[in-house]
Amino acid sequence: MKTYQQFINGSLVDSHSKDWIEVENPFTNEIISRVPQGDTEDACAALEAAAKAQKAWAARPAAERAGYLKRMAALIRDSRVELAKTLAAEQAKILPLAQVEIDVTAEYFDYYAGWARIFEGEIIQSDRKNENIFLFRKPIGVVAGICPWNFPFFVMARKVAPALLSGCTIVLKPSSMTPNTTFEFAKMAATLDLPPGVVNFVSGGGKTLGNALVTSPLTDMVTLTGSVEAGQEIIRATADNITKVSLELGGKAPAIVFADADLDIAVKGVVDSRVIYSGQVCNCAERAYVHTSIYDKFLEKFTQAMKNVRYGDPFADPAPDMSSQIDKNQQQKIDAMVKRALADGAKALTGGKIADTKSGYFYEPTVLVNCRQDMEIVRKEVFGPAIPVLPFTEYEEAIALANDCEYGLTSSVFTTNINTVMQALKDLKFGETYVNREHFEGIQGFHAGWRKSGIGGADGKHGLMEYLQSQMAYIQF
Ligand code: NAD
Repeated sequence: MKTYQQFINGSLVDSHSKDWIEVENPFTNEIISRVPQGDTEDACAALEAAAKAQKAWAARPAAERAGYLKRMAALIRDSRVELAKTLAAEQAKILPLAQVEIDVTAEYFDYYAGWARIFEGEIIQSDRKNENIFLFRKPIGVVAGICPWNFPFFVMARKVAPALLSGCTIVLKPSSMTPNTTFEFAKMAATLDLPPGVVNFVSGGGKTLGNALVTSPLTDMVTLTGSVEAGQEIIRATADNITKVSLELGGKAPAIVFADADLDIAVKGVVDSRVIYSGQVCNCAERAYVHTSIYDKFLEKFTQAMKNVRYGDPFADPAPDMSSQIDKNQQQKIDAMVKRALADGAKALTGGKIADTKSGYFYEPTVLVNCRQDMEIVRKEVFGPAIPVLPFTEYEEAIALANDCEYGLTSSVFTTNINTVMQALKDLKFGETYVNREHFEGIQGFHAGWRKSGIGGADGKHGLMEYLQSQMAYIQF
């Protein structure tokens, strides 16, 4: 069993609490590591270090800051195989998918390093003679980054890379369920000659150490990736200091399959979007609306494809398509939602129950029909491999059903008609829409949800802007 330490003010340290959090491999149920149970004192020490380091860090040329990001990318690549194994073990993520996450994370650091010479301020026309108006972009200051368990390594980079590139310093807290890759990265960061306090990694509960991070007056911005409930708590907790928040929260993505869709593409797109990482992805397809004229045919192919999804040991070679849920709670939550849907009249064409496996917390890939729009399974995030499929007859009906949702993260349409594509892009109220493909974003895009899916967003140019604030100068000469 590995023991990790926090990384505060340039040093690897235990917690003041002297308590530990044990981390379980969800597939084997083995305790694989322990991390410090950080407390308020640890949060304060890390924030003080970040605040102390920020001015000098921001004063460095952006290209110099980018140099550290490139070295972080290189260190990740040097240990890519080991990191993927650590990630697969802490999450029961299938090994090839864990490898993709590690490799994309290295790319992410390189990608943001590339922004060093690109991000700009503005020169604005004045209404007065002999006046220049400048808009400077300045780092927001000290960032508290709070991560979920589903993409622990990538989401860590999604916060650390733009923060450091923009001249912010950061204190980052991983989920207590999946802290191992973050603390492996902390050990790498400790080998760089980074000024102490520029990047800090702490561990602990959301409502304890996490709350201390978000309520501190030293924190200039909170970036959370997590549930709507945590987002709501953070909005409340940051109200007194009016601290900036950037929130990437949950989703309930619709996939709309029109009558003229290529059925094989649609079936593959929806299956891939539902079972990737065992359905535990914020942008997963969570409900499908299929035109009545192809409903039966779609269901036949889709159900067969969901039955064909192989699940099992994430380390097996060849790899399965799907692995365990993150823990028993998550497995029970999915099961309870499906059971309530079945009791309310839904019918499972396949699945509908906890998988009968010797180890892990598996849930059978599940296709539900006879569902209504008002059912919980159609309205609330399942975060597992179960999907209701509903019929529609008119275009307007499909769009209205898709938009009728408290979340607004991702959506998809399957059609061969370009006019339908363009009209749907106009009518759908979601931060992302995928056309004839699975739901999965690019690092150069902007991952940002509407409605309860969040405030602000991540990735690309606009993700970098989250960490910068403007300063206007009106200069008379
Ligand atoms: P969670 O909300 O339970 O926890 C996320 C993090 O927030 C954890 O580190 C937790 O300790 C911390 N936290 C919880 N309450 C807090 C509080 N009051 N103050 C400070 N910190 C607090 O979410 P999870 O179960 O880890 O992740 C799954 C959720 O994340 C899903 O809803 C999923 O859709 C969402 N998610 C969204 C995106 C996105 O980009 N929109 C990406 C990944 C996951």
